[in-house]
Amino acid sequence: MRDGPDVADVVVVGGGPAGLAAAAEAARGGLKVVVCERNHAIGEPVRTSGGSFIRPLRRLGVPSSCWHPVHRIRVIGPTTDVVKTYRTAVGCVLDVRATYQWLAAQAVDAGAEIRLKAHVEGPLRADGATGTGRVSGVRVRDPFRGVHELHSRVVVDASGHTGFLAREAGMRPRNERSAVGLELELRAPGYDADEAVFWLGDDIAPGGYGWAFPCGAGRVRLGVGVVRPDSDAEPRVLLDRLLDAFRSLAGPASPAGAIEMHSGLMPVIPPRATQLVGDGLVVVGDAGGQGSTLLGEGIRYAITAGRIAGTSLVEAGGDYSRRGLASYPRRWRRSTGRDMAISYAVNTRICDYGDAQWDRAIRRLDRLTPKQAARVFASDFSPGWAVSVLMTDPSLLLSLARAVSRRAAGRGAASQRAQSP
Ligand SMILES: Cc1cc2nc3c(=O)[nH]c(=O)nc-3n(C[C@H](O)[C@H](O)[C@H](O)COP(=O)(O)OP(=O)(O)OC[C@H]3O[C@@H](n4cnc5c(N)ncnc54)[C@H](O)[C@@H]3O)c2cc1C
Repeated sequence: MRDGPDVADVVVVGGGPAGLAAAAEAARGGLKVVVCERNHAIGEPVRTSGGSFIRPLRRLGVPSSCWHPVHRIRVIGPTTDVVKTYRTAVGCVLDVRATYQWLAAQAVDAGAEIRLKAHVEGPLRADGATGTGRVSGVRVRDPFRGVHELHSRVVVDASGHTGFLAREAGMRPRNERSAVGLELELRAPGYDADEAVFWLGDDIAPGGYGWAFPCGAGRVRLGVGVVRPDSDAEPRVLLDRLLDAFRSLAGPASPAGAIEMHSGLMPVIPPRATQLVGDGLVVVGDAGGQGSTLLGEGIRYAITAGRIAGTSLVEAGGDYSRRGLASYPRRWRRSTGRDMAISYAVNTRICDYGDAQWDRAIRRLDRLTPKQAARVFASDFSPGWAVSVLMTDPSLLLSLARAVSRRAAGRGAASQRAQSP
């Protein structure tokens, strides 16, 4: 155990992409930042498939050595099959370890300290009370200091799916719905390394989807995800079934053996359900439900949110009250709010799709140009995209608008219920 008070300006709980991005930005602005990560290494264990999109990653400065590009995206439905081809790759699969460690290097270079095997047990409160007073640090256990108090002026909850500090502070709801994913990283040299595949339908993943993401060096991530409690299907059983479908794609004579197994959870909560800032507490990434619930893509959104939060911490100039930090939620909503709201509305609409509806949706996807389809996969519902789709398939826009207005009506009814005595 070390002696003396342990003090920082900012404590970041969680060394995933959200926490590391926030730490780098805050440290770059001159704040003393400590990141507590409960695992023994950044990027370990891998819990995510790493599917992403090249242009936004480039915009974030992620080096191209961190991803494997894909030139085709195939969607296989119960009786339908559509493939979109890209001469210049738009989609990619991240080397998750390399990406997270690149983010960690950025944080360290900016002056942040990362503590590994540092398990945060709970918040400290300025008034010593539980659940009310301003957050003033964390209680943490690590191999060097044992259980100790780490004091700070502000804490960033970047703990991922649990968002336990935000939940305890009443800033976000429980995880009433979560995506549960299970994935094998296979050595499968016979598989086409240019093609990512999504499987839809009751047979493969009721209410979810299956995927094959090539990640280079003859490897493929093969996984399934379902949403709890909407589906009670067992991912292990589904993955076993998917392996058969995969073997026929990869060539039955070619070897396909597991080298790694990944599993994890992602929250499926409404994007506006989390209060992103409280007194002395900031929430980023999955902890704040900031990923896209359309395909369960969260890494680049976590980096974006982390950077915005880190910038706001610097600009707050020491005023870590809700008011002092208000620029973070405002900027985040401006940058991503619309796309996340539409993704969530679509998620709630398609979660109980049966085979016939999936086939219909895939035929609709077939009508879109590769560029338009890529934007759907990437949850990019910009006005430019809407105008171009209006020319190709106006009924798709209508259906999206219906999903969003149904979601808004549901929200209105819920808030009326909450207000009525
Ligand atoms: C199966 C699966 C597949 C996915 N596939 C994709 C995909 O293809 N593409 C994509 O972009 N996204 C994908 N996602 C989503 C993506 O993984 C998340 O959105 C992203 O990791 C969120 O980053 P984060 O930093 O908010 O949280 P996390 O990456 O979860 O990081 C949180 C960190 O906090 C640490 N932590 C938690 N509690 C404590 C504590 N008490 N003390 C100290 N440390 C703690 C954890 O160990 C972890 O390192 C997938 C998710 C799952 C589950």
